[in-house]
This record gives sequence, structure tokens and C-alpha cells, in this order.
Amino acid sequence: MHLLFALLFGFNVINLPYVRIKNTDFISLKTASSILNIDTEVTDSSILLSFGTDNVRINPVNLTYTGKIEGTLKAIKKDSDNVFIDAEDLIYISGVLTGNYYYWDSRKHRIIESSYSPSIKSFEINGNVIRLIHNIDLEPATRMDNNSILIEVPYGFYFGPPFLYFDDVEFPLKSVEITYSSRGTLFKLNLRKKTDFESKSSTGLFVVRLKETLKKNQKQDQISRNEKSKITPKTHNKIDVIVIDPGHGGKDPGAVTKRGTREKDIVLSIARKVAKKLRKKGFRVILTRDKDKFITLGQRARIANNSKCDLFVSIHANYSKGKRAHGIETYFLSEARTKWERSVAAFENSVIKYELKDKVDERNILKWILGDMAQNEFLRESQDLAAFIQESIVKKTHALDRGVKQAGFYVLRGVYAPSILIETGFITNPKEEKKLRSKRYQNKIADGIVEGILKYKRYYERKYGRF
Ligand SMILES: [Zn+2]
Repeated sequence: MHLLFALLFGFNVINLPYVRIKNTDFISLKTASSILNIDTEVTDSSILLSFGTDNVRINPVNLTYTGKIEGTLKAIKKDSDNVFIDAEDLIYISGVLTGNYYYWDSRKHRIIESSYSPSIKSFEINGNVIRLIHNIDLEPATRMDNNSILIEVPYGFYFGPPFLYFDDVEFPLKSVEITYSSRGTLFKLNLRKKTDFESKSSTGLFVVRLKETLKKNQKQDQISRNEKSKITPKTHNKIDVIVIDPGHGGKDPGAVTKRGTREKDIVLSIARKVAKKLRKKGFRVILTRDKDKFITLGQRARIANNSKCDLFVSIHANYSKGKRAHGIETYFLSEARTKWERSVAAFENSVIKYELKDKVDERNILKWILGDMAQNEFLRESQDLAAFIQESIVKKTHALDRGVKQAGFYVLRGVYAPSILIETGFITNPKEEKKLRSKRYQNKIADGIVEGILKYKRYYERKYGRF
């Protein structure tokens, strides 16, 4: 939408006092409180911003904030009787708290309030891939500026954290600054060192790929890169590249039974069979792990994105406290509706305890997973894929059809493709455990998965045509 029309329909300007210090606009908490109706509370150790029952707590020491949303602030200033917060961050947080689309206009130093959902739907960084999903009338472009890559999106509105900081010194990006002005939105990617990049544009999607050199502890990336080099760039709407993700591995066994059956072994065996069968059908297949090895959930998503996969299929085996539960269920990423869905997601997400030293609040993880826009773009496709696969596996195995379900799985979170997670059966049910250990039954499950993918491929390619 062009700004001229935009200003006439559904846009509103809010002017408010600000202080400009070294090229950064600051707004005082008192101003936010009186003009934006945000409640504020300042103590020595924290700053609380709240609106109704929602709140965001700022830690002024490390400049992080948590609560309804989480992130890093650019700057805080303090004088004897007031606290000033970087305008972009404060306006974004206020927008989230009050449920308004607020943008800080960095050229005219005022708030633009919009009644439309943002035209830039998401901005995501996964490994060395940066993706913008946007309305199709926008035309993002890149250029280099000293040690920064600029992505300019004329007329684009982006509603999200205005500042991202990455403390991993191995990572080529140091920070991202996102500013809005009447020219549109500017994403400034600040690099640790000069890095080559390429950008690609297709309908509603803009991708920037950094070409940084590999470090030795990025072995997993290396695997996917090697796989990737065999892949020709995709220019059509076909289902071609599939990532198969056997759950767990290494120090994370997944579910384990008294008889010593381990989920990680069963799912690796099934995944290998699926990969082999898919390759025979002409697909390019990448396994996130091909042996008994630990991979973080984030690495799995990175492998998927680096491979530009068209589908992501995570394979698991189920667990229940009693022995009786049995059957197959397939999940796509969305908010869990039932207690059971939540418990399965909680179990599969619990691998995070192997990845983080600190205690993680389960609810925060879930909030974070669901707060992500990436998968929302593929919700419909993921649901369709789940339905095709669930139906085919049940047909091949005659196992109990527990249906297509939805829950917040961390592993599916960052994947830019239709993604599903299959619970292939309960290893806690002695009968199903025995079956799941047999090669014959594993082959039936694998056949079901392959058939489901083939059906989805036909359906999808017919629906979206070839171009
Ligand atoms: Zn699992």
C-alpha cells in the first residue's frame, strides 16, 4: 500500500516528546505512561511495563526484556527522576502490550499507528539464511554499506523487535537494527567481518544468504552444505527436496522402555528406510542425522533451511505412562488444543534440557515457539501433509488411527517449509513395541510415509501448478 493512500485510510500519527542523544531517539517512561496508557514501575533492579494483565519486565543491567515478548534493548538512559528508553523498542513493546500496530518513524520522530496488519509478515534468521515474507506488492532490495548489509523495503511495515543482538562470536551477524521511516522499513544487518552474500526474490519472499566460511565446530552445517552442493537451485513450485529428521540421538535417547527399547534407535531405522525409498522415487533427501548422534533442535531447523527443503518430516515414537495406549498420530505446529497434545509436545520439547545449562520455563518455550510466524505461513500445507501421511501410514500398518493433531513443537518452529512430526507408535505398549522393533513393521511405516508424501506432492503440484 502506498503511503499517500495509507495516510488517508487507517493510519494515524501520534506526536510525543522525545530526546535525541547520539542519533538515537529516547522516550521517557513518564511519557509512555501518560500518552500511551502504559503502567510503569521502576525499581533498582527492574522496570515493569504493563497494560491490563499483560506485562514486560526490563532488566536494565543486561538490557534484556521478558514477559509478553522477549528481546534485547538498544539503550536505556537515566537521569535523577526519569528513565528513558530507546524509542523504537519502547514503541514496539507498547504496541504489543496495548494490541496496536505502532511504528516509530525514525525520520519524523513520531509514532505511526496502523490499523492494517504489517505488510512484512516475518523477518527470520536461520543459520546463514535471512528470510523476509511480505505482501507481494513490496520489492525489497539489498546493498552493502561498510560492514553492514542493508535490506530496504519501500512502503514496507514491519512489526517486530527493532533490535537483535547475537553474542555468538562464530556467527557472522553481530546485530540487526530495524528502523521504520516514511520511506519504508530498513533492516541493517551488522556483520562481524566482511561477508559475501547473495539475495533472491520470489513472490512474497525475499532471501539473503550469507556466504561465510565454516568453522570446525560447525560439522553439522558442513553435512548439510555438502548435501546442498548437490542440489540445483529451485526455481519452480515442485516438491523435490525433503528433510527427514529422526528424533533424538546421542545423549538424548527419547523414550526408553524397561526392555531397553530406545526411541532414538527405532526412529533412526525408520528414517533411513524412508530416505532410501524416497530417493528411489527421485526425491533429494537429507537426513538430519544418519547415526546415533546428538543434534540440537536448532541445528535440525538450520539443516532444513540450508537445504531449501520443500518438506520437513520429523519421526518419533510415542510414550505413555500406562501400557495400553497405542496407535499412530501425526502433528503439525500450532497451539495444542488438548491436554494430551500438550503432554506429547512437552515430552518432545524436553530435549531442550540437554541443550541449555539453565533451567528453562516450559511455558516460556511454548510461548516462544508459537510466537514465531514462520510456520504460520505453512499452516495449511502442514496440515494437509499431516493428513495425507497419517492416512497412508494407518492404511499400511492397520494400526489405530489417533488422528492428525496440533501442538507446539520446538523442532518444527524455525523450518521454512511445510513441517510435520509423526509419532509412529507407542514403545510403551509391549505389543506395539515388538512391532516397532521389527524391520517388517518399520518398512510398512516407511512405505506409509512415502505414499503420503507422494499423494501430497501430486495434490500440491496440481493445486499450485508448475512454474
Ligand atoms: Zn520423540
